[in-house]
Amino acid sequence: MVDTPQVSATPPESVHVLRDDDAGLRGVIVLHSTRRGPAAGGCRLWRYADHAALMGDAMRLAEGMTYKNAMADLPLGGGKAVLALPQGSVDRRRLFAAFGRAVARLEGDYVTAEDAGTGVADMEVVRGETRHVAGLPVQGGRPGGDPSPCTARGVFLAMEEAARRQLGSELKSLRVAVQGLGHVGSALCGMLHEAGARLIVAEPRPGVAAEIACRYDAEIMGRDSILDARCAIFAPCALGGVLDQEAVSRLRARVVCGAANNVLATPEDGDRLADRGILYAPDYVVNAGGIISVAGEYLGWSVDEVARRVHATGLRLGAVLGHAAREGLAPHRAADALARARITAAPASPVLEAA
Ligand code: NAD
Repeated sequence: MVDTPQVSATPPESVHVLRDDDAGLRGVIVLHSTRRGPAAGGCRLWRYADHAALMGDAMRLAEGMTYKNAMADLPLGGGKAVLALPQGSVDRRRLFAAFGRAVARLEGDYVTAEDAGTGVADMEVVRGETRHVAGLPVQGGRPGGDPSPCTARGVFLAMEEAARRQLGSELKSLRVAVQGLGHVGSALCGMLHEAGARLIVAEPRPGVAAEIACRYDAEIMGRDSILDARCAIFAPCALGGVLDQEAVSRLRARVVCGAANNVLATPEDGDRLADRGILYAPDYVVNAGGIISVAGEYLGWSVDEVARRVHATGLRLGAVLGHAAREGLAPHRAADALARARITAAPASPVLEAA
């Protein structure tokens, strides 16, 4: 699951190469921007063809976090940690302790959490070394834990907004194709089923696909053929870069709205969607629920405050789509323009303390 670019590259503020041979740690922390606050973004543990591929992914993901955090109106900049999954067996405790020490050395300029390939248990190890980490087990009715249910809720609310605008309809009885039944995709299926939508799903793990199909009365399609599904909404919840020129030409959906980061292979693919009359709900606008939960945990907000901000995802998408319509822009270009304006307008490096 390597994400490909959507936003145009602007240089990061700093890049911190990580290497601890004893712990098997190799990777990088990219601080793309601390203009709005500490650079926040998860830690990915993944296998890459080479160091250049890892660096490229880290740079794009860090920049994407700057845009996502600005659009969600969080007092945070954007950053990302990407670690190479070691060959053979991994001592995760040593690996994440070494990573935690690297985060500590940045003295609060970077706030980490889980991402693809990492989980709550890994973040607990990081917490042993630094307080600049979230996504820890929930404690005493405070925000925390796995952020993916908040991501799924935000995507669901954005989908409601997109369906109303594009199809003049509620989600009830609409056919929604969900690609990827991991943490977010499976939670999203539950919400869609509850709302009365009819589900089509694709997932490489047959047991998981069968379980979700059974639970929510969903139709299963192949990993590739789901792009051709007869549906009103396509929800990419697996990979980045799924919508390239060929994929866009195949889609039958009238709305694209999902959790995956960097859904568009290139910005031009977003233009192609607009040319075909397909409404694209920009990824970083609709999938911010998880980082809102992480921000709430780190900054000491209440559960209600986190829920209120996640709930506003539909409104934020509406504002982006309104701007797009007024300016004659495709939605992804409107989102980029609004995000850049917010980042530029931000006071430089407000001082924030972890709760
Ligand atoms: P995950 O790893 O739990 O789930 C991904 C799922 O996609 C897995 O079940 C995997 O088997 C499946 N998959 C892989 N290749 C596929 C293919 N070709 N077709 C269909 N399914 C395929 O990840 P997640 O946490 O659910 O995140 C999903 C996406 O959303 C990722 O792109 C992630 O970066 C993005 N995202 C997640 C969060 C979050 O809170 N977890 C927040 C923002 C963005």
